Amino acid sequence: MTSGSEAFEPWAWQASAAVLAPVEAIAAEQASLLVEPWDLEQQEQLRDGLRSSALSPQTFQRAHALLQQQGGQRLQQQADALRRALVGETVSYVRNRNLNFTNHCVQHCSFCAFRRDPDQPGAYWHRIEELQHRASEAANSGASELCLQGGLNSAARLNGSMLAYYAALLRALRDAAPGLHLHAFSPQELLFIAREDGIPLQTVLESLCSAGLDSVPGTAAEVLSEPVRQQLCPEKLTAREWCAVVLQVHRCGLPSTSTLMAGHIEAPADRAAHLLTLVALQQQARQHQVPGFSEFVLLPFIGANAPAALRRRVGRDQPDRAAMLALTAQSRLLLGEWIVNHQPSWVKLTLEGATEALGWGCNDLGGTLMEESITSMAGAEGGTSQSASALEAAARSVGRPVRERTTLYGERR
Ligand code: SF4
Repeated sequence: MTSGSEAFEPWAWQASAAVLAPVEAIAAEQASLLVEPWDLEQQEQLRDGLRSSALSPQTFQRAHALLQQQGGQRLQQQADALRRALVGETVSYVRNRNLNFTNHCVQHCSFCAFRRDPDQPGAYWHRIEELQHRASEAANSGASELCLQGGLNSAARLNGSMLAYYAALLRALRDAAPGLHLHAFSPQELLFIAREDGIPLQTVLESLCSAGLDSVPGTAAEVLSEPVRQQLCPEKLTAREWCAVVLQVHRCGLPSTSTLMAGHIEAPADRAAHLLTLVALQQQARQHQVPGFSEFVLLPFIGANAPAALRRRVGRDQPDRAAMLALTAQSRLLLGEWIVNHQPSWVKLTLEGATEALGWGCNDLGGTLMEESITSMAGAEGGTSQSASALEAAARSVGRPVRERTTLYGERR
């Protein structure tokens, strides 16, 4: 079982085609349309279009128009007002520890400065005992969540089984830090386990749930537009496969986050398609009364240490903050009532940039992280750890109340 639809439940594979926005067909048609400044009437038309038919050509056209808007005060104020109406003034954050347990990876995504072959300088694979030690440190320092993601390491097996290794890892962390929420393994990692072991994705999800998995990071989505993925990460799971994994994750009772990696080679139409697909997936979850996306995280591309080809093509080492703030506002306006929690990445934007994003539609500052390898190896300037007091001070500096939350936005007791 190495590719194609075999790993998926037939219903999920079928439904995954229906949630993808047809970016190629529609973007070409709309390339020459005049874009009017975004006003309240257009916002209401977009909201109504999303409710009645999120993937219709008309809705795509409105979303595309929104994604082509320049930034500026008007867009910022609209996003800020919608944030206030949907989730109020309070800014939240979570005390967590990030564990990027290995950077051994069989893939070669064009933006990735994290991956290594096992024999390359800088390659690492932490032992389970070391990860337990870090988990226990996190628990002792008051964390409520462990976030685990790593490279695709084909040697990560127990008695020949990759699933057995990943399940043992979760159990070991559960033993070392009982009660911490385990937020782990991207859709790409989950599908990799299924395909390496030649077993259905459903078996992987059920087994990892039994081992303690609580929720799934919505990473590896990058941009859910196949033409972009073919250039950015052709070895990675396709946009359709990402959607199929997420559909099954949610149907298993596991919530996930959602992300968009932006600021590289994608066009406004790709961003519109991505965000509309997130809405369609959230609508599926609500229709079936299962958990869906708990939040949306914008992940600006970091070029500093990225492989040279993409770095040269993008021509920028750090994110264009103004452009990312405009996209923050556009994402808030498009995702509307469907995904209400919006988080900027302080690792990628710096804490100062993330604090500014609170005025552009965001209501959450993410996690304390305690350590981070993927983005810091890419050359990001935001650091790898924030204290709870630094995140609280950031929220207060813009005159907003602040609260510590759980992974799923509940109250921390
Ligand atoms: S982004 Fe993930 S899958 Fe791609 S090369 Fe890096 S570690 Fe591997």
